[in-house]
Amino acid sequence: MKIMNKIKNMKKQIGQVLLVAVTKTRTIEEIKEVIEAGAEIIAESRIQEAEKKFIFLKEYLKEKNVEFHFIGKLQSNKIKKAVGMFDLIQSVDSLKLAQEIDKRAREIGKIQYVLIEINIGKEEQKSGILIENIPGLIKEIKKLGNLRLLGIMCVPPFSMDAEDSRPYFREMKKIFDTYKMKILSMGMTNDYKIAIEEGSNMVRIGTGIFGERKD
Ligand SMILES: *Cc1c(COP(=O)(O)O)cnc(C)c1O
Repeated sequence: MKIMNKIKNMKKQIGQVLLVAVTKTRTIEEIKEVIEAGAEIIAESRIQEAEKKFIFLKEYLKEKNVEFHFIGKLQSNKIKKAVGMFDLIQSVDSLKLAQEIDKRAREIGKIQYVLIEINIGKEEQKSGILIENIPGLIKEIKKLGNLRLLGIMCVPPFSMDAEDSRPYFREMKKIFDTYKMKILSMGMTNDYKIAIEEGSNMVRIGTGIFGERKD
């Protein structure tokens, strides 16, 4: 009931913007609840966790026409599993990773949709590609026959004040426009309103739907 209301409110607030319900750490029961309440896209950030859940969710997601996205760090030994599971991999941040995804997609006759993750705050510890490397990566990705690049994603530097995210979102929008992309995935629970003001068309919400994570 609580989740039901939250997702309905959230969808009302964001209008045409696509809502990704981030389901990491959430149970199968919670995930099904959010889908019953109208979530059309769910996302996980750890392959092992996603894999365990996918066993129980695969048929259900298909039946409900729900997309399954990956938004975490993708290690090379998990790429094959990822390509087998996800409709969109939002976290491609190197050519090597792109090439490996392409290879695994080709093996199973799949066209894999991807986003490039951008390290928009140039943070040492964060994944994502630096802005200066984007043109090169895009050029190379376009050569990969089993990849389709749909857009870009970012997680700006953490701040208690969502306004601090605005300049980063603005920079993302410029890149998005330059390459005439389809998906601009930015904005999480604390800063999705700012992200939408700056042109996001896909927000990724976890705690705003399910409440605080326990981990
Ligand atoms: C966890 C996560 C989210 C959702 O974060 P909330 O603050 O819970 O909304 C969004 N994007 C990524 C990449 C995440 O890992």
